[in-house]
Amino acid sequence: MNQTASTKHSKGLYVLFATEMWERFNYYGMRAILVLFMTKALLFDKAFASNLYGSYTSLVYLTPLLGGFIADRYWGNRMSIIAGGLIMATGEFILFFCGHLYDSSPEMASFLFFAGLGFMIAGNGFFKPNISSLVGQLYPKGDRRIDAAYTIFYMGINVGGGIGPFICGLVGDTGNPADFKWAFLVAGIGMLISVAIQKLFHHKYVLDPEGKVLGLIPKGQPKIYTNAVVATVSLIALSFLMIGLLYVDAKIVNYLTYLLIATVLFIAFVIFSDKTLNKLEKQRIGVIFITAFFVIFFWSAFEQAGASLTFFAEEQTQRDIGIFVIPASFFQSLNSIFVITFAPVFAWLWLKLGKKDPASPTKMAMGLALLALGYLWIAFGVKDVQPGIKVSVIWLTGMYLLHTWGELCLSPIGLSLVNKLAPLKFASLLMAVWFLANAAANKLAGVLSSLYPEAGRSTSFLGYSMYNMHDFFMLFVFMAGTASILLFILTKRLQQMMQMDK
Ligand code: GLN
Repeated sequence: MNQTASTKHSKGLYVLFATEMWERFNYYGMRAILVLFMTKALLFDKAFASNLYGSYTSLVYLTPLLGGFIADRYWGNRMSIIAGGLIMATGEFILFFCGHLYDSSPEMASFLFFAGLGFMIAGNGFFKPNISSLVGQLYPKGDRRIDAAYTIFYMGINVGGGIGPFICGLVGDTGNPADFKWAFLVAGIGMLISVAIQKLFHHKYVLDPEGKVLGLIPKGQPKIYTNAVVATVSLIALSFLMIGLLYVDAKIVNYLTYLLIATVLFIAFVIFSDKTLNKLEKQRIGVIFITAFFVIFFWSAFEQAGASLTFFAEEQTQRDIGIFVIPASFFQSLNSIFVITFAPVFAWLWLKLGKKDPASPTKMAMGLALLALGYLWIAFGVKDVQPGIKVSVIWLTGMYLLHTWGELCLSPIGLSLVNKLAPLKFASLLMAVWFLANAAANKLAGVLSSLYPEAGRSTSFLGYSMYNMHDFFMLFVFMAGTASILLFILTKRLQQMMQMDK
């Protein structure tokens, strides 16, 4: 291989970048107005909207297990991405109709709302894991460009995550509930652009190092499995199953938490009962399970962004800047904007520290500490503020900045740690454990957001009573702070278990 070939990125990376960017535009654009639509158009109360947000985002992280499995065996990455994308776009268009009917036929709107979310969940399961795994396949195994490629790809995620809430907020979050539908429509169009990019450019550019098209349908299986009609019917059936699962968890019985715990225990049993693993491999897998447990406390506080923190932006933040009232949904762009700004700084910092670069568990503990600090900052901002008085945008903005610094210490580091520690045989299953931690965290995020105290309503969690916003934010300070301290204490032990320095 010549020098230029080894430093230049494949053109395919930019196809995947654009595909992912438009999909994240669709996902985060819709998420930016989701709880506002639930409370202002569908008139759900905040606690119910929060719980539904948690169940929805939790299932969004659970279905990639299925989507990854089907792609590996039957559909290949490309077909899964396109099918998943179309199903998500359908979900957005269903939500558009829901937003159109919410006033004239509330019952129909409520059904369409669950239906739209069910389609989003099923579609994401096929899109997200498959686009992510294609990135690494563009390069030869162990190529040093892979890390940089994932960093560029993460930028794509955040360009979409930054623009989505901004555009969807502009057209949908206008103060008139009848306008929310436009946000769903625009998000759905974004999703179609993503699919179109994939359709037009994949075959030409998304190639392996030998020049063969990546992500094609695996050979040697019955044609019926990949028949377009069969695939469409199966995905629609899966979407209906998701509608049912979401509905039951939100309205009838809260089973999702137990399902997630049972799944993790089952996977742990499958892995640890494998006789071919040696002691060191088992210890390393143990580290993955332990760190995955800790990241639950990170994401459950972080993902308040789409729920309680959006209520806070809407009701308690001074958004009127004279010439313009900043829509509450815009605040969901901040995290992505800060990622784009600071990801290069963190990458430089870790390199600069050289030998002093902290071990992965230490960085993750630092991530939790920064998250706790973010909540401490905003808790300070609302201390002794009378109900009904709005606070400055600096509190939310500063908090999102600290949260993003935390994310940059924890999220990419955690992902590469799983990659390094997992034995090849269980690589996908252990990645699944990582996704499951996200699913559990999102479910918990919804439960915690439902404790948002409103005037005259106090809430409590494990004996801790909350009467105002300060008490509410302090809950996250305690939670993330305790997790951070424990992880710091455990770091040395985890390093011994990994038998790796970093
Ligand atoms: N913001 C990133 C994404 O959308 C990571 C989110 C997460 O891992 N919870 O892919």
